[in-house]
Amino acid sequence: MELLFLPGSYAVCPACHGSRYNPETLEVDYRGKTIADVLGLSVDDAARFLADVPAAARSLETLREVGLGYLRLGQPATELSGGEAQRIKLASELQRARRGHTLYLLDEPTTGLHPSDVQLLLAQLNRLVDAGNTVIVVEHNLDVIAAADWVIDLGPSGGDAGGRILVAGPPEVVAAYPESRTAPYLARRLSS
Ligand SMILES: [Zn+2]
Repeated sequence: MELLFLPGSYAVCPACHGSRYNPETLEVDYRGKTIADVLGLSVDDAARFLADVPAAARSLETLREVGLGYLRLGQPATELSGGEAQRIKLASELQRARRGHTLYLLDEPTTGLHPSDVQLLLAQLNRLVDAGNTVIVVEHNLDVIAAADWVIDLGPSGGDAGGRILVAGPPEVVAAYPESRTAPYLARRLSS
């Protein structure tokens, strides 16, 4: 529903009660599940349910590899965080498995990501780099910064008080730079 002066509002469709399919479509099932049931599954559950359907299994496995196993298959795109949307794009890139010569520019892909899944995301980013691609990530997450080959520290503060390149180099060099606000945190992260 479009509301004047207010953001749009969502309500459950009275015809299909949110299943998004007509009764004829919902009569069809696969191992006891309709298409609406399948869209209600998480990526993790669907990976088990569709394990022997190669085309689906490959896509679902890639989504799990970027830490999105908890997402519902039918989750509306409007409910995704920016980080989740970027990781879905990343998953489709990983599936295409192109070789090298691609520049990936990511803006805080760890947003909304559980800390344990950051390691999963880093493994995938490293896979892209190992294949000869270049990955540029805008990040505050220290695990991501510490794992980079080259760090460009912008600052010294945010907004009007930022935007200058303070220091650039490997994480160890940035961590030792006295003017950098990130340095002490990065130093602690590198020594742990
Ligand atoms: Zn409907």
